[in-house]
This record gives sequence, structure tokens and C-alpha cells, in this order.
Amino acid sequence: MSPSNPLPLTEQIRTRLLARRAELVQRLERVEHDASHRAEAISADFQEQANQTSNDEVLGAIGETARAEIQDIDTALERVAAGRYGLCSRCGVPIETARLAVVPYTVTCSSCATD
Ligand SMILES: [Zn+2]
Repeated sequence: MSPSNPLPLTEQIRTRLLARRAELVQRLERVEHDASHRAEAISADFQEQANQTSNDEVLGAIGETARAEIQDIDTALERVAAGRYGLCSRCGVPIETARLAVVPYTVTCSSCATD
């Protein structure tokens, strides 16, 4: 990126969303790898197995969160492509800049989000 030729705002947003998405996909792969690795390593020890189950539940929850966020990012990317990024999907007003700075893939304004 050259300073004399800055990326258009939508490209910056797209780049940011894609970077975050790649990060989540990587995390998800790690979680899934851990889960399958543990499944193979399950011992005959029942106490071990009991601990194993709760570990897998925690990993599963991390995976769920990452998956949900990837889905939100995909929705945001579609909205960038459609030129509707930054507009509330419910009431259509521009989403607060501060809100987008914290959660760049949000699709609702703060008042719709708290409904
Ligand atoms: Zn709204």
C-alpha cells in the first residue's frame, strides 16, 4: 500500500474483515485438530474420559463462537460488495462509527441491537 494511493474505504474494511476471518478460520482449525487429536488419544481410564468430555465441551464452545463470527463476517463482506456496508440491516440508518470500530462486522445499529 503506497501512501500516495490509499485504498478506498471499502477496500480497507474488506481487508480488515478478511484478516479477522482468516484468524478465526485458523483458530477453528486448531480447535478441530485438538478435538480429533484428543479423541484418538482417549485412554481406557474412565476418569481420564470424564475429563476429556469437559475439555471437548470447552473446545466445542470456542468453535461455535468462531463459526458464528465467521458467518457474521461473511454477511458483512456481502454487504460491502453490495455497497450497503455500515447501514443498519433493520432500520437502514448508518451504523455508529464507534460501533463499527469495535465490531466491524456488525449489521445493526446500537438501538436495533439492544431490542
Ligand atoms: Zn437500526
